[in-house]
Amino acid sequence: MEKHVSVKMINRFDTCSSWFHHLTNKEMSVKRLYRTDACGNRFCPICTWKTAKKNAIKISILMEAVKEIEGKEFLFLTLTAPSVSGEELCDEIDQFNKAVNRLFKRRNVERVVKGYIRKLEVTTDQEKYITEKLYKRKKDYYDWRGLKVGDPNPTYNTYHPHMHIIVAVNKSYFGNRDAISKSEWLEMWRDCMNDNSITQVDAKKVRATETSNSNAVLEIAKYSAKGSDLYHSEAVFDTFYMALKRRQLIVYSGMMKDYAKKFKNGELDRFKKENEDEYTHLLQSVWKGSTYDSKLRELTQEEMEMYNERAKFIEEGDEVE
Ligand SMILES: [Zn+2]
Repeated sequence: MEKHVSVKMINRFDTCSSWFHHLTNKEMSVKRLYRTDACGNRFCPICTWKTAKKNAIKISILMEAVKEIEGKEFLFLTLTAPSVSGEELCDEIDQFNKAVNRLFKRRNVERVVKGYIRKLEVTTDQEKYITEKLYKRKKDYYDWRGLKVGDPNPTYNTYHPHMHIIVAVNKSYFGNRDAISKSEWLEMWRDCMNDNSITQVDAKKVRATETSNSNAVLEIAKYSAKGSDLYHSEAVFDTFYMALKRRQLIVYSGMMKDYAKKFKNGELDRFKKENEDEYTHLLQSVWKGSTYDSKLRELTQEEMEMYNERAKFIEEGDEVE
């Protein structure tokens, strides 16, 4: 990180979550984060994990609200493009974003899409040679190229941008003649990307039982690069850093954007799970190099009233301020 950010940021990054205050009870059977010194950097493993958790809750609530209030259903769309080198990644992401905008401006798409939440994700392939695991995952591709386990990996050190999109559509979309088939999505996507070599596009309905904690929600909520990729090596980290910094990674549009505003204004609080836990104690933990040193103390009557009132509508992972 050192070469990318200020000394001040490095210090905050270094000491991220060095202490925690949790609201709890005597038995410590319930626990809620009250305060910590999180650095908030989007490349910090602790902070990205916390943000992903918060996003997952937010997106679930947006979907639930849009479903109940607007009577919409959801489509989960995944758009991919061929792998590129680290040097090409930034431009490729720009192209990708432009192509997505073009796709959603198409008349037959605009007609059915009421709003969406999209998230860019980038993975990297850092295997020099084809492993058993890689072979199993991309068997068709390797077979097509006549490659076997142990051969040099043709996509070694490449980056693979793709996009996950939760699309709000009318209930009547599914099974309707306006519905867009997977092959139609693929054809339009190839057109927008101006690349006929693209082979993978996925489009499926988000099932009613799945709106919260579904695969779709988790895919959108998680960070744009997974830890095993991001922290693979300094060169790989630099590539991700340059490609992802200052980018808006989750984009809300149309009805989903309107509902994200309502969420922020507290208009969707009734969709939040009410927290019924009772907090009587404060657990103070300080990082001591290999473990946290913790102290438990009782809350004063005044603190108890204040924090329990505030914690009522606070989501797991949120800080009570
Ligand atoms: Zn952090």
